[in-house]
Amino acid sequence: MVRTRFAPSPTGFLHIGSLRTALYAYVMAKHDDGQFILRVEDTDQKREVGGATDALKNTLKIFGLNWDEYYLQSERLEIYQKAAKKLVADGHAFYCQCPPRNAKTDGFSQILRDSCRDKALNSGAIKLRVPEDEQVKYVDFVHKKEITWDTNGVYDATLLKSDGFPTYHLAAMVDDIEMKITHILRGHDWMPSTPIHLLVFKYLGGDRPEIGHLSDILNAKTGKKLSKRRDSVMAEDFLKAGYLPEALLNFVMLLGWAPKDNRELYSLAEYVKEFDINGFQEANPRFEDTKLKWFNGHYLRQKSDEELIALIDCPDKEKLKQILPLIKDRLVVLSDFDELTSFFFKSPEVTAGLNKDHLTFAIDNHDTLIKGELIEEIKAKGWKVGDFFMTIRIAICGTRSTPPITETMLVLGRDESIKRLIASKAQS
Ligand code: GLU
Repeated sequence: MVRTRFAPSPTGFLHIGSLRTALYAYVMAKHDDGQFILRVEDTDQKREVGGATDALKNTLKIFGLNWDEYYLQSERLEIYQKAAKKLVADGHAFYCQCPPRNAKTDGFSQILRDSCRDKALNSGAIKLRVPEDEQVKYVDFVHKKEITWDTNGVYDATLLKSDGFPTYHLAAMVDDIEMKITHILRGHDWMPSTPIHLLVFKYLGGDRPEIGHLSDILNAKTGKKLSKRRDSVMAEDFLKAGYLPEALLNFVMLLGWAPKDNRELYSLAEYVKEFDINGFQEANPRFEDTKLKWFNGHYLRQKSDEELIALIDCPDKEKLKQILPLIKDRLVVLSDFDELTSFFFKSPEVTAGLNKDHLTFAIDNHDTLIKGELIEEIKAKGWKVGDFFMTIRIAICGTRSTPPITETMLVLGRDESIKRLIASKAQS
């Protein structure tokens, strides 16, 4: 049975790349009627952000990525400690009493072999005894090729810190074996650490899962890897900005995976059905905002008016009901609603310099105008119909781009429409 896991560290909100990892892991399992495991890797207590675990769980649920089993690594410390001690006993790891190195301030060590390696200490941190002159290799199921390292280039990585907390190199490998994970799907950043992990797996014994490293997602404009500092990358921020979860998820499905045909639209259930492990792509995908907007517009248009009314943040639900049919087709992101409709809720700033004759005519003939029965008379006055209605649009809505103007006037009501026309006329 396929068993996959999503293993976030609770250091903040859900990065779009992590959403993609979670989605692919979920789908790989579910396509095969397998199980998807959520494992929170909270062993680096210094980096932990309060509330992050609950927020991550909540976000995964919003996307429908429900897990079958849940584990918190900080509750499993004894398992890792036992495994580390066994590695020492078997000669594959050793105790080290050097002060911990801070890679940020001290830089990465260039020395691969640790000075405590042959001291036969019996307390302290535990490090991996990397063998000399061996080859370690695996076949990456995303890249679909064998990758090999020489152990002479691999350093004696820390497995258990002196405070008894494991590093990722130990905890994740112990868990992947214990939890009978069949496929590890993770970010490309982990590729350089893979030889360490292959050794740890070998020494722990048991079945090693298949491993796949996902491509990096690039900013479409700069071609650089999406970054927390430079780009908007948090799934929660997209949701807050008015993107629908199904649109974001559909967009993410195609960032690094492609079907055999050119299909683009998938619900989660359809994607589970159609998913094929051979569809993973090696090339780095680009995050195209316009594409995401296209998906969002598509899914918004699938919603009934009732569903949209529930989703849009507007206290006047009655008015919303009237406005919605007029703007629905122009809604790309839910948060566009305010900008598209502000003139329904308050008078726009009065625009001066409009065609006074147009305005006078519209005021005098308001009731016939909103029935759409004035076209011939407008033409008879020698006016272009488009020009006339543009004047009215600007006077009523304060903008050139509006929903059908007569319908807008109907929603606003006679008094309000005439009031706005008069105000504009006074300034023209
Ligand atoms: N905790 C690791 C991370 O957040 C997990 C990597 C993995 O999936 O193994 O990057």
